[in-house]
Amino acid sequence: MYPFSFTKASDTQDALNAGRRGGRYIAGGTTLVDLMRETVERPEALVDISALPLREVTVTERGGLRIGALVTMAETAAHPKVRTTFPVISEALELSASAQLRNMATLGGNIMQRTRCTYFRDVTAACNKREPGSGCAAREGFNRSHAILGTSDACVATHPSDVAVAFAALEARVHLLGPDGQRQVPFADFLLRPGNTPQHEQALNQGELITAVEIPALPRPLKSGYLKVRDRQSYEFALTSAAVALHIRGGVIREAKVAAGGVGTVPWKLPAVEEALIGERPSDRLWAEAAAHAGDGARPLQHNRFKVELLKRTVERQLRIVGGTK
Ligand code: SF4
Repeated sequence: MYPFSFTKASDTQDALNAGRRGGRYIAGGTTLVDLMRETVERPEALVDISALPLREVTVTERGGLRIGALVTMAETAAHPKVRTTFPVISEALELSASAQLRNMATLGGNIMQRTRCTYFRDVTAACNKREPGSGCAAREGFNRSHAILGTSDACVATHPSDVAVAFAALEARVHLLGPDGQRQVPFADFLLRPGNTPQHEQALNQGELITAVEIPALPRPLKSGYLKVRDRQSYEFALTSAAVALHIRGGVIREAKVAAGGVGTVPWKLPAVEEALIGERPSDRLWAEAAAHAGDGARPLQHNRFKVELLKRTVERQLRIVGGTK
C-alpha cells in the first residue's frame, strides 16, 4: 500500500466539498480497496460516504422505483418492492458476487465497478484503460472473457455488473448530485463505450455523486427475469447474460425490454430483439427469431467467437422462461 488521506463525510455537502477537491468516494469498498492493494488505482484522497442518507428504496409517483445509491446489493435484492415489481433486478443481484460481498457492496458502487480484464489488474501488462497509450494486451492475448460488442481498437473489456444489465434493459435513470446541483442521466448514456479513451468509464463530472437509480414505471402485468451463463455456478462473472421484461396483454407482447451482459463493453441493450417481439404472440418460433438478432454487429476476438452463438441461445432461453411457450 502507499500513503493516502481518508476522511469520513458527515453530510452530503461535506462529501461534495471533498469530492470537488479531488477526493474519491468510497462506500462498501469491495472493488476500490482491492485495486488499491494491487496498485492498479492510486487515489491520494478517499472520502467515505457511507453515512450519507442514501439508503432508501421508494416507489415513485408514477409507480416506478427509486433505489438509493447506498442500499446494499443484498438489501436491494431482498426488498419486497423490488422483488414484486422488478424481479429481474433481484435475480441479477442474487447471481452476482458472493453473499459476503453482497452484504457490503452498494448499488452505486456496483455500477461503478471496474472491469475484470486480467490485464487491467496486472500492472506489468499493457493496458490503455489503466495507463492510456500503453496498448491493449488483451487484443492479442487470452481474450475468451472479453467483449464482442461496443469494442474499440483501444479496449475490448466487458463491463462486469449484472444489475447494470437489468438497469439497461429497464431504461433506468441515474440521479447525480454535484457542485452544480442535481441532474439525471439515462442509464444508456451513463456508462461509456471505450472509444479512444477507455480510461473514462462514466459520464460523471468532477465531484459528482450518484444518489440513486430510478427505474421508470412499466405497464402491468410485467414479467421479468435474469439469466446468467458462466463457467461455474457461483462467484463468477458472466460469459453471457440476458435481462428480459415483457408486458403481455390479450395474448400479444405490448412491451419488450431486453439487454445482454458479458458481451459488451457496456451493458448491451438489444433494440432489434425488442422490435422483433412487440406486437407478436409468444411462441417458440418467435423467441428464436427475435433472439437471432442478439449478435447483430458483434466483432468477436480470437478466443471468444463462441459468445456470438451463446448470446443468441441465452437470450432465446430467457425469452422462453419469461414469456412462456405455446
Ligand atoms: Fe486494458 Fe481494456 Fe485491453 Fe483489458 S481490454 S488490457 S482493460 S485496454
